[in-house]
Amino acid sequence: MKRAKEDTLIWLPELKGDFSTASAFEAIRNKGVRVHWHGAVWNHFTHPKLAANAWKLYSGRAATDLAAKKKGIQLASKCKLCGQQEEDLNHLLWQCDFADKTWNWWGGKFKFRGALEIARDAMSRSQQVSPLSKQLWAGGGS
Ligand SMILES: [Zn+2]
Repeated sequence: MKRAKEDTLIWLPELKGDFSTASAFEAIRNKGVRVHWHGAVWNHFTHPKLAANAWKLYSGRAATDLAAKKKGIQLASKCKLCGQQEEDLNHLLWQCDFADKTWNWWGGKFKFRGALEIARDAMSRSQQVSPLSKQLWAGGGS
């Protein structure tokens, strides 16, 4: 007489049916729309912590004072680095004296000063043209 096989549990999200926390996370996470710059941030050679910070910057979701204000939090905003202006993403990345000195130092070390000026100019021009860019670089996101 042939003996019946015992029932076994299988995890459907995996082809082999084996459970893993990675596959569980993938199954339940909230997947947004994939943006064209996805691969520049999320890849195998960028540490996940750096990728998460880059994603926040790219997508305008960095935790700035301006972003907090847009969510209804009342606060007196001042750049923590220079103390001269309100804190928004554009100031932190491009306008702050500290950022300027940091970019210049990096540009000198890694020989991209010319490219940095082009990027800074492109950002400045895009803020004048694109409503989305204005929203992102004003520390928005949402
Ligand atoms: Zn500043």
